[in-house]
Amino acid sequence: MFEDYEIIDLSPELVPGHEDRRLAIRPFIFEENHTTMHDIDMMSHVGVHVEAPFHYKEDLKGVSELPLSIFFGDGLCIDVSGAGKAGAITPNTLLESNRSGGVKPGDIVLLHSDFLGQDVPYISRECAEFLSNLPIKMLGIDNSIRLEQPGGMATHDSLLRKDIPLIERLANLDKVKGKRFLFFGFPLRIKGLDSSPIRAVALVRK
Ligand SMILES: [Zn+2]
Repeated sequence: MFEDYEIIDLSPELVPGHEDRRLAIRPFIFEENHTTMHDIDMMSHVGVHVEAPFHYKEDLKGVSELPLSIFFGDGLCIDVSGAGKAGAITPNTLLESNRSGGVKPGDIVLLHSDFLGQDVPYISRECAEFLSNLPIKMLGIDNSIRLEQPGGMATHDSLLRKDIPLIERLANLDKVKGKRFLFFGFPLRIKGLDSSPIRAVALVRK
């Protein structure tokens, strides 16, 4: 069924001990059958991860409480470089730069720009509200986008309050920018967890 698709891995390999956030693994021998297992000590926001509403407010849903259907579906990656150096990404930026037919309700929307470091554009309140009102299914970014205007929480507030998860630290978005694809990014099903690492994958039709 998927032979007509190219698989693009949007999650870089994580190396325990070499990440900027806590990720440690410790092997041990499982005595019952002498196989190898690991203890894992990690932050829930290591590598590519999906943030559930509980991350923003304690009384909102954790990763295991959201329906599975949220975490996969029609995706697109929009190049928002048009917002400019450290500029605001507005609903207009999405329209002007989108070569993939516009954002539709139910889309998983990934944003990418050509900027790095302090120069990356941020998602404006208007843009967050536009996306949450459609509504989209999930919003994902890489390090070329700032989720919030410095000091603000409008993106977390608009999207997470409506059960629209946020994905951070995606990789390889340059390979899918301007395209539509099938997106998959499932969290671990652990009760009480605010966020979870995911293996983010785009299937692009050849
Ligand atoms: Zn996070």
